[in-house]
Amino acid sequence: MKTVSALLDAAWLDRYRRISKLNIRSSIYDVTNRCNLRCKGCFFFSSGEHAAAVEEMDLTRWEAFIEAEKARGVNLAILIGGEPTLCLERVEAFYRRLPTFCATNGLIRIPRDRFPDLMVGISLWGDEQDELALRGRDTFSISRRHYEGDRHAYYLFTITPHQVGRAERVVRKIRDAGLKVHMQLLSNDEGVDGFFWTPQALADLRAEMDALLERYPETVISSRYYHRIITTGRMLGRRFGWRECPSVTAPLDRRDPPPRRLANFVRWASDLRTMHRCCTSETRDCAVCKDGAAHMSWVMVNKRAHLHSTEDLQNWIEVYEMFAKLYQFIPW
Ligand code: SF4
Ligand code: SF4
Repeated sequence: MKTVSALLDAAWLDRYRRISKLNIRSSIYDVTNRCNLRCKGCFFFSSGEHAAAVEEMDLTRWEAFIEAEKARGVNLAILIGGEPTLCLERVEAFYRRLPTFCATNGLIRIPRDRFPDLMVGISLWGDEQDELALRGRDTFSISRRHYEGDRHAYYLFTITPHQVGRAERVVRKIRDAGLKVHMQLLSNDEGVDGFFWTPQALADLRAEMDALLERYPETVISSRYYHRIITTGRMLGRRFGWRECPSVTAPLDRRDPPPRRLANFVRWASDLRTMHRCCTSETRDCAVCKDGAAHMSWVMVNKRAHLHSTEDLQNWIEVYEMFAKLYQFIPW
């Protein structure tokens, strides 16, 4: 292992210093068990997490809970669901107290007079045709209309095996709408026919994501190293999975030996008491998990392992910067 300053020149050292002081402490919150869609392959419904807890309806309890989370050291609240925009008063309770990110399917526009700089991640599962097949609605057209030109919104593009070779058209439309995009991969939790990954499809997708990043650097928020990790499930000779995953809820984590992990991370259910196993599906087989945030965090918590060469450390910095941009800790 070498020191950071021995590995980096002045420009990279500046980038490293900018992110190394961030000390991001995130947790994830199911804002509601309800959704205005029912997508095939949605991890929330397919794992039964929507029925794991009875939703807390009293706003004052949400407010007290958020204050307690803040006292616990959380400095990034990631709101998911269900569909958070069905409960804007809960979203507002977070937004008024903590740096907040809100995932949404984009069908309901978040009012910018009430949430001027709330970072919004709009889920997208492919082009209009794929969205119809998997989600029952062409949400892409609606969300583009709702968020066109919005500086605090981006598409979280979950790429399916059907999209391989066809993602550029979607990225172009996002660019033309004046928005950014971050890509991750479908885990196919409900075993939808034709949506399983093959090694060849993953290799092709990696090349395609690299090309998109090169062609649309102002639109695609990503890094080549992230593409490598998410498509191979490997980092520095280690394999992603249960033993390595950083995004397991801390109080439920009995792994021995303990891996490098997100400090104090919890994924809370909407009763504000129940905890889910991890940042994604309670029932997913970790061996096939493609969760983008978990892979990103896997890199981020393993800084020491990247202190062997300049290239490794630069890769680590790029992934950290990507995460910091997506959650608005540094500008695009
Ligand atoms: S919009 Fe999101 S929460 Fe709702 S069903 Fe689809 S994937 Fe699940
Ligand atoms: S399903 Fe994915 S995110 Fe959840 S514990 Fe397994 S590897 Fe981690």
